[in-house]
This record gives sequence, C-alpha cells and structure tokens, in this order.
Amino acid sequence: MSTLMNTYGERTLTLTKGAGSRVWDDAGNSYIDGISGIAVCGLGHSHAAVTRALSEQANTLLHVSNLYNIPPQKVLADKLCAVSKMDKVFFSNSGAEANEAAIKIARKYGNDKGINTPTIVVMNSAFHGRTMATLTATGNTNAQKGFEPLLPGFVRAPFNDIAAIEVLAAEHKNIVAVLVEPVQGEGGVRVPDDTYLPELRDLCNRHEWLLMLDEIQTGNGRTGTYFAYQHYDFMPDVVTTAKGLGNGVPIGACLAHGIAADVFAPGNHGSTFGGNPLACRAAEAVIDTLTESQLISTVAQRGAQMLQAFRDKLAGNELVVDIRGKGLMIGIELEHPCMELVAEARKAGLLINVTAGNTIRLLPTFIMTDDETDTLVNGVVELIQNFQPTE
Ligand SMILES: *Cc1c(COP(=O)(O)O)cnc(C)c1O
Repeated sequence: MSTLMNTYGERTLTLTKGAGSRVWDDAGNSYIDGISGIAVCGLGHSHAAVTRALSEQANTLLHVSNLYNIPPQKVLADKLCAVSKMDKVFFSNSGAEANEAAIKIARKYGNDKGINTPTIVVMNSAFHGRTMATLTATGNTNAQKGFEPLLPGFVRAPFNDIAAIEVLAAEHKNIVAVLVEPVQGEGGVRVPDDTYLPELRDLCNRHEWLLMLDEIQTGNGRTGTYFAYQHYDFMPDVVTTAKGLGNGVPIGACLAHGIAADVFAPGNHGSTFGGNPLACRAAEAVIDTLTESQLISTVAQRGAQMLQAFRDKLAGNELVVDIRGKGLMIGIELEHPCMELVAEARKAGLLINVTAGNTIRLLPTFIMTDDETDTLVNGVVELIQNFQPTE
C-alpha cells in the first residue's frame, strides 16, 4: 500500500539519474528523454550552469521571505523583462500559480473599471492547471468532474476561432480578458493559424480586454523564440510561464505589460516561496544559457527538421491524421487512441508522451545530438509503423 495519494495512477518506471538528453532507470537502462519532464528540462539533465548556480546559492542563502529585498529576484526580473519586453513580474512556484496571478490581475483590472462580475474568455481543450480557478479555466470536463462548483467568471470559445469570440463579445458586456495558450500543449499540440493571435490582439484592443498568454509550456525557448508571441509582431498584456524557466527547479512567473503591470498594489497578492533566492538563481542560469548561446535558434531548426522527417517518413501512413508543431513541441495525431505506445517506446529506450488520447507528443531537450535526434525520430516512426490499434 502506497502512502502517496493515487493522483498519478500506477507508475511502472523509476528514473534515478539524468545527464544531457538521457535518463537512467533503477536497473541501469538508459533512455533518450523525448519529453524532458513535460517541457521542463530544455537544457537537459544535470546542466552544469544550473547546478553551479544552485550549489553557490545553497551555500549562501536559501530563503528569507518576501518581507525583504531579494537581490537574485531583482536580477531575474530584470532579465525576464529584457528578454520579453514586458514591464513587471510576479514570481510564483508553479504554472498554475502564475495563472492564478494572471486571473487575479484580470479580475482586479475589471473591478477597477467598475465591472463587478469580470469575466475571462478561455478556450475549448485549453489546459491552465489544477487549482480551482485554473481548473475552471481548463477546457477538459473530465479534469473538472467531481470538483463542482467551479468558479464563476469564465466563458468559453473554440480555439483558433476569432468569430466565436466576437459572438461572446456581443453577448457578454462584462468580459475583461482573454486567456489563451499560443500553442495548446495538453490539448494535443494544437498550433493556431498565423493570423489568430494578431487578430485576437486587435479584438482585445477594440474591447479594452487584456490579452493574457499562457506560455507555461511554450515559453523559455520551447517553440524556437524565447516566448511564442515573439514569432509575431505584437505585445501581450500578461504572459505566464513556468515549466522550462527553472530547468527542474520549481518556479513560475506572471509578467505584465502596460496598464496590466500596475494593477496589483501592496497586499493584493503574495507567496511565501515565490521568487526565493534558490529558485531565482536557477532561472537566471537558464535565461543566461538560453540568451548567450544559439540554443533557441537550434530549437527552431531542429524542430523544423524533425517535423519534416516525420512528414517524409510517415507519408501515406493511414493511421496518421496530422503531424504538427512549433519548435521542439511536436504532435503526431493518430486515428486511434495510442496510450500503449508509451510502453512500447520505453522498450525501445525512448521516453515519449501521449496527450489528448491519440496524439504522440514530443518535447525533447534543446541539446540533443544529431544521433540522438535520429534515434528518437526513427524510433517513433517505427512504433507508428508497427502500431496495431486495439480500439
Ligand atoms: C503545465 C501547464 C500548466 C500548469 O503548470 P503547473 O506547474 O503544473 O501548475 C498551465 N498551463 C499550461 C499551458 C501548462 O502546460
């Protein structure tokens, strides 16, 4: 009998060591890590710069609380603002908490304008986290089931559908913000049309709504730019990030631009651990490593190369519905549920993920060698070619 609450189901693999793009299990078998802890360890495992920053800071000061100035927090905020062109940052410990901050900013922004039932537009098949507000924002009724009552103040539209949001705008006079992932991750690696986000920006401008991007998964280089909105020519009002920000050390951030940056006043929000010295030093090492190297352009190139390889090698395969992605966020949607491929991949020494039931999702590290990339691509192609759906 496990003393762990059974939230993750049965777990059959025990990983005990990682280096670069590889991890090892307790029997000593090694795997190419095709998911990087769900888009967390972009720099790979046991990255020297992160390890150095952590050990230095652990020898200096772990924690003091936000009652005091925390120099590493200030340094990290400056670097995040420089790389994002956003104005201000609030630090949290996770993605869901970063989104909680964004949701509170939207509500306060509305209430400050005299809208006392502020409402946020969210999308079908969105994923924003597991806390009550972020679970409400998430577009997955299975995840929500049993946790009613959900929160008021959210309305929903299909993803990648501007007209549907225009309809909501006509129906609801209390909308204050739109919260959306630039590429839906858990929802099946859904990449919107190139016009979607810029049009959403225009729509938000016209209605004086905040455009809030959930870049918890897409941020920190994952799609081939530091943040995914940097593929376009507009600024969001709020951006949340976490996952890759600490390369494995828990840290999240809610960034804001313009009017949204000054919504919070003293006493409006806080966190005991948020922005603590240890986590900030790790994230600083990540930002430095990403911005002082060619790694992010490698992500764009490597991602495009993998996407093309999958399209070439799987051309004509009747099980494959779609192959899509941006940078090193790649989805291969199959005709049938394919959860069993995760175990098959493991036998071949590959860690992969299946999301939304029938979409193989790859979120590899940014530092794979050519050989590791070939092994991952060829291994996944072979799995699909040999796949015999049971459903
Ligand atoms: C993972 C994720 C979250 C939640 O982050 P946690 O750190 O698990 O709370 C929210 N939004 C998106 C897009 C994510 O991928």
